[in-house]
Amino acid sequence: MSSKIVVVGSCMIDFVSYASRLPTAGETIHGDKFVTNFGGKGANQCVAAAKLGADTTLVARVGNDIWGEKYIDNLDSAGVNTEFVLITPNSSSGIAQINVAESGENQIVIVAGANKQLSVSDIEDAKKSISSAEVLIMQLETPPETAIRAMELCTGISILNGAPALSTYDPKLLTLPTIFCINETEASIFTGLPVNNTGDAEKAAIDLVTKGCKSVLITLGEQGAVYHSGDCGCKVLKIESPKVKSLDTTGAGDAFIGALAYFIGAKKVSMEKAIRAACFVAADSVTKLGTQMSFPGPEILKKIDL
Ligand code: ADP
Repeated sequence: MSSKIVVVGSCMIDFVSYASRLPTAGETIHGDKFVTNFGGKGANQCVAAAKLGADTTLVARVGNDIWGEKYIDNLDSAGVNTEFVLITPNSSSGIAQINVAESGENQIVIVAGANKQLSVSDIEDAKKSISSAEVLIMQLETPPETAIRAMELCTGISILNGAPALSTYDPKLLTLPTIFCINETEASIFTGLPVNNTGDAEKAAIDLVTKGCKSVLITLGEQGAVYHSGDCGCKVLKIESPKVKSLDTTGAGDAFIGALAYFIGAKKVSMEKAIRAACFVAADSVTKLGTQMSFPGPEILKKIDL
């Protein structure tokens, strides 16, 4: 069964160089390996849902460089509808230049490029798709006003992934989404509270509901997730993630959100079941290297008890 999921967000290309150590300022050193990965939270979440079998549309911008074209090919081959992925004149694609040392330390320079130019008028152009979406997903790597307009048009379920977290923001970012979804670091920035375990996350979720969120979902890596439905006096739900041998956790949060949208939209299961299933998909993704490459296909659905 397919579901209509629309994602408004970013496309980034990661250029990753591996070296024995990080260079100091002004220094040139030889690295050992170089890889490029398709990333960006918006595209990652969209691809995660598409790989499970959802009917997905991405509203995004790429640059008018070879990476923009390659990115659209990548989305097409994942089965994503790219009608609203615009090539932006006089702009580079969004990129992340990443150096990784043997110690695991890294240096990252991000250039948002075309992502910064996603506009409210792009959202209006995609109005029909956005307003008929069963599930709408947004993040904060593209201008927040685009997320706000998309949520205003949405008649289905909206999920705002508050990432990267903002220290100052329009309160509509908290009050408009059906589900406000963040990881523990973001939860700490949005609330000003320490968030290191499920107990802390429970307090942060209650704080965000007090601030006007309709419901709050906080992911905690291997510790799983906590969910507050927004109901007065409700108990915060704690959901464990399966124990796995973790190899690469990059994009785990994106696998989680794409899968969550799929289970809510296509499977119409309860939130508790959808979160449990999304944890299963995200845990599977951390057992493999890479970001979009590590997201599982529909074969994983046979292993999930809905
Ligand atoms: P982000 O990538 O945004 O930091 P998290 O690290 O919180 O997000 O991970 C999102 C979800 O991925 C978690 O809720 C969990 O289900 C799963 N996950 C991440 N790391 C692990 C791990 N080491 N073992 C099992 N599940 C994991």
